[in-house]
This record gives sequence, structure tokens and C-alpha cells, in this order.
Amino acid sequence: MRFAIFGDIHANLEALEVILADARNLGATNFICLGDVVGYNANPHECLEIVQSLRCPVVKGNHDEYAASDSSLEHFNPLAELAIRWTRDQLEPRERTWLANLPLISEIDQTTIVHATLDEPASWTYVLNQLDAASSFANQTTDLCFFGHTHAPRVYVQEDSVTGMPLDELVLEHGKRYFINVGSVGQPRDGDWRAAYVIFDSQTRLVKLRRLAYGLRKTQEKIVASGLPPRLAERLAFGK
Ligand code: ZN
Repeated sequence: MRFAIFGDIHANLEALEVILADARNLGATNFICLGDVVGYNANPHECLEIVQSLRCPVVKGNHDEYAASDSSLEHFNPLAELAIRWTRDQLEPRERTWLANLPLISEIDQTTIVHATLDEPASWTYVLNQLDAASSFANQTTDLCFFGHTHAPRVYVQEDSVTGMPLDELVLEHGKRYFINVGSVGQPRDGDWRAAYVIFDSQTRLVKLRRLAYGLRKTQEKIVASGLPPRLAERLAFGK
């Protein structure tokens, strides 16, 4: 089976449409969403509708949680806070309920999925190095787990110790465990502005990162026109 695994869409419709078309062209029949469907960009309804229409496993991201609730945003940076407030105003009650009811962790065919970490999935901490990854591995019950949240593709491998390396493509080896960040569809932060997601073939065990250009200008224009901070449009061009 060929899986398309994607997350951190952040209401970027142009990027979402491009990666889903690419996944279908590559023969993906199964989709998995790692959360943060909304937040930052201008098309929360459209992105929610598309993800819901896939009827695929979805886990909750921090933006999904905060957009769905009325809880305090004081620990967010000012840009993220503005984006979440804007998104809260946009979402309909049924959309907020759907987001609020998403699970934090899910398991599909002996593969675990989570937005942030397996050790503290509700704290929304970041896996930024081997030490962070080791804490997550300690709670990983499958050989393979996909995650997001940092918006930077990366693979951590646990054999005797944990190593981290950039993700391009790799064949999963038996006897090793993997914690793989698939990057971000709608707001990459690894210096590459193009949308990122992963194709995973469960037969060949090949994991392949895909990077795709999308209609960036249109996404930026919609952000500005919608009253979101223009800085959110500018950052997309830099992949930061
Ligand atoms: Zn995110």
C-alpha cells in the first residue's frame, strides 16, 4: 500500500491541493494527516473540508486544539496568537467540534502517528535533536512513527543509540526504529518554501520526501486580503 503522509497544512489551500494531486499521481491510495489543518493561512474551511473528505486518520495539532477552544493564548508568539484568534472567528461550531475531538495519537497498520511528541503529546513540545527524539522513542510501541510540528523534515533512527539526519529518501531496515518528521505542507520552516509531505510504500518500505512548488503568490494575496498579518504572507516565501 502506498501512503501519503502530510501535516501542518495551516489553511494553505494551494499547497494542499498540489500535494494531494502529486500523491494521487504517484499512486497513493491511503492518506494520513498529522494535524495543524488550520492556523496561519487564509483557507481554514476549505482545508478542513478537503481533509474531512479524505476520511483518513487525522491527529490533533496545537493550532487545531487552540482554534477549537477558547483557552488562553498567552504563551504563543504574537503572530501565532493573531492567526489563532482570526481562525477562531472564522470557524463554525461544527468545525471546532470536529477539531476538538481529534485524537492526539493514533495507530494504523503498526505505524504510529502524532503531531508533536509521544512522551508529552498534549504539551506540544518540539523534537529538535536526538535527545528529544530519544524521549519520544521511549514511548513508541511500533517500529515506525510519523510526526510533524517543527515544520522541518527529518528522520531519527534508533538502533543502539539515536541518530538524526535530514530526510530525503530511505528504505526502512528491520531491527531499527524510526521517528520521521514529514515537514509542513502549508508553512515550511527549513529554508525551502515548497510544500513538503512524504510518500511511504509499505511493501518496498521506501519513505520518500516530496517537495512541490505551489501558487505562493495567490496564497500570499489571500492572507493580506483576509486581514491576517502581512508578515504571515512574507514568511512563506522564505520557508521560515
Ligand atoms: Zn504547525
